[in-house]
Amino acid sequence: MTDRNHRSFALSRRSLVKWGGAAALAASIPVTIAAATAGAEPTGKSVRLRWLGTNSWEFTTEETTVLIDPWVSRFPTGAYTEAGANPETKIEVHEDVIDEHLPKADTILVTHGHWDHIADVPYIAKKTGATVIGTETHLNLLRAMDAPEEQLGQVVGGEFYQFKGCTVEVFKSTHSAKGDHKKIEFAGTRTSVPKRPMKIKHLVEGGSLTYLLDFGGVSFFNAGSANFHQHQTEGLTPTVLFIQPGGGHTPDYVERLLKATGYPRYVVPTHWDDFDKPLTEPAVPGGDIETLQKRVAKASPDSEFVRIDHLEHHDFQS
Ligand SMILES: [Zn+2]
Repeated sequence: MTDRNHRSFALSRRSLVKWGGAAALAASIPVTIAAATAGAEPTGKSVRLRWLGTNSWEFTTEETTVLIDPWVSRFPTGAYTEAGANPETKIEVHEDVIDEHLPKADTILVTHGHWDHIADVPYIAKKTGATVIGTETHLNLLRAMDAPEEQLGQVVGGEFYQFKGCTVEVFKSTHSAKGDHKKIEFAGTRTSVPKRPMKIKHLVEGGSLTYLLDFGGVSFFNAGSANFHQHQTEGLTPTVLFIQPGGGHTPDYVERLLKATGYPRYVVPTHWDDFDKPLTEPAVPGGDIETLQKRVAKASPDSEFVRIDHLEHHDFQS
């Protein structure tokens, strides 16, 4: 069931840090959260949220594992240099890294077709048998990378689905754009299965989606880019809202998103790391997370900014 009413909510405990170094953690986490419960499995109505860099998130409950934009292969592209990502960069899929960090999935949600969102999805889908949700273009790109056809579910926005252990509502969205002419990086659509994508420029945006996941009392709203459709989003009241830095060409992006979603209890920054840097070390900011945190604090002073680092998790409980 979709939770559009704000529900009372108890903040759970911060948990283990796989890359080690408690001092580094303490220095990197501006929020004060209670003591660790290293290794504990989620219990009751608890959703364990784990960050794998970029907009790659794992949601785990006793019943299910959902992934959004799962991508951990992280090969250098220059995305956060002055010149930006080199479109000729060859796509790499590091199966050993995926096996280490993403062992299971029941459902995979794709927000858009860029390499840092979907390049690992075919391998993960094959090894887990997970259902994969995305637009026609996303699914055609995935087919071209040998994703299993029978697991692919095409959406356009507006769908409301029951999955094992959660509901998912899909919304049309828009990718962030740059420059005077409002260009989207690697824009385009694919209405048939293209040749196998070999370079990052072949993984076109293909339309963007946002998702409202509801695990029965704890809900999450995620957009894979620094943009959203205000009139599709107004009236949603997620427990947890993901926001990413950027969106500089979209007026008042952060403030409007907070307002449209009813000033959620928790805000989790996403896609703020320089993904040319290792996942196994603390995130190096690529986007301006400090400015994002200040904007959130000003626009929505009652929201708690829950900053989760690489491979860390945080338990949200109803
Ligand atoms: Zn993108």
